[in-house]
Amino acid sequence: MGNTRLVKTFIDLAEIDSPSGKEEKVSLYIEQWFNKHSVLYKKDSYGNLIATIRGAGKPLLLSAHMDTVDPCRGIKAAIKNDTIVSSGNTILGADDKAGIAEILEAMLVMKEKKVSHRPLKIVFTREEETGVYGAMALSDKDIIVTDGLGLDGTEGLGVITLASPHYHIMDIIITGQGAHAGSAQKKGINALSVAVDAISNLSIGIIDRETSTNIGVLQSGYARNGVPESALIKAEVRSHVNEKAKKQVSLFKDTFQAAVKKYGATLDFTVSRVCVGYKYSKKDPHIKKVINALKKVGVTPTFNKSMGGSDVNAFVGKGIRAVDISYGAYNFHTTKEKASIPEMEKMVAFLIEYCRA
Ligand SMILES: [Zn+2]
Repeated sequence: MGNTRLVKTFIDLAEIDSPSGKEEKVSLYIEQWFNKHSVLYKKDSYGNLIATIRGAGKPLLLSAHMDTVDPCRGIKAAIKNDTIVSSGNTILGADDKAGIAEILEAMLVMKEKKVSHRPLKIVFTREEETGVYGAMALSDKDIIVTDGLGLDGTEGLGVITLASPHYHIMDIIITGQGAHAGSAQKKGINALSVAVDAISNLSIGIIDRETSTNIGVLQSGYARNGVPESALIKAEVRSHVNEKAKKQVSLFKDTFQAAVKKYGATLDFTVSRVCVGYKYSKKDPHIKKVINALKKVGVTPTFNKSMGGSDVNAFVGKGIRAVDISYGAYNFHTTKEKASIPEMEKMVAFLIEYCRA
C-alpha cells in the first residue's frame, strides 16, 4: 500500500519509546539514518538534531519534534486499510513522528531524483510537548534561515496555522500569617481568603476572540483548624495580540496587589512570557509560497488560528518566519491517534515542491 519506505520509516519511529526528556533512542535512529544517507548533521548540547543539506538560493528550515506524550511506551503500530493506528492502549506518536518520517522521505526523494532544491536546515527537537524547551535551547548560529516550516500543525492535511498566541505565565505567592483558627484567629491573615478575593475580581476564561486567561493551580492550607499562611496560584494568559496579553497580566497584578493590601498580606508576583506569538496574512510572501506548493500537489490549503504554542513559536522568537502546517495525522494525544498513508505521501510531495529551488 503506497509508499512502503515512508510507512516503514514512520512505523520504526513510532515504535521507539520517546517520552519527553527521553528522546535518546529515537535520536539514535535518526542519526543512523543520517549516517546511512551521508547527511551532514550535528547534535547540539541539548540533544536537538540539526542537519544541513546544500542547495541553491536562500536556506529553508524544516522541523518536527522527537518527543511524544503519554501513554507512549511500547507502541505497536498497525495498518488498517490506508491508515496507521496504535494497538489502542497507547497513542500512535504520529505527532510528531509522521512529520519526521515525511521530512526524511522528502530528503531522500530529492536526492534520488536529483531535484534542485534550496539549502535546508532540518531540525528535530526534544521536549516540545512539555514546553518547547528543545527549540528554545537551539543556538541562533545553528539555524540561520529566514523562512521555515514546522510539521506540527493541527490535525488534517494542508491546514496552515496562521496565528498562534503570545503566552505569559504567572506564579503568584501570597504570604499572610498562620495561626490557630480557634485560639489565635485574630493573629491570622488568611492567605487563601486573599487569593479567593482576588480571583473573584478577575475574569477567568475567554476574554475575547483572541485572548484567554486561566488559573490552573491554587494551593493553600494544611489543616481545617489552621489559618493558611500562604497561597500559591499558577495562572496563564494567551492572546494573539501581545498588548492584550500584557493588559491581562497587569489586571492580575493590580487585582492581587489590591487584595493583599486589603488584608495586610504580601505578594510575590512573577511573570514570564514563554512563547512569542505570531499572526500571518495569507498575502505574506512565505505563506503564499506554502499555499502555492500545496496547490501544486493538489491539496486545497485551509487556515486556522491556534490558541496553543509549538516549536514554531520559538523559531519566530528567533526572528524566523516559520509557520506550522498539518501533516496527515488525527486525534493527537489520544489512543485513537492515526495517520493517513495517502495524506503522508501528499505531504512528502508538498515538501519537495516547497523546497524546490
Ligand atoms: Zn506535536
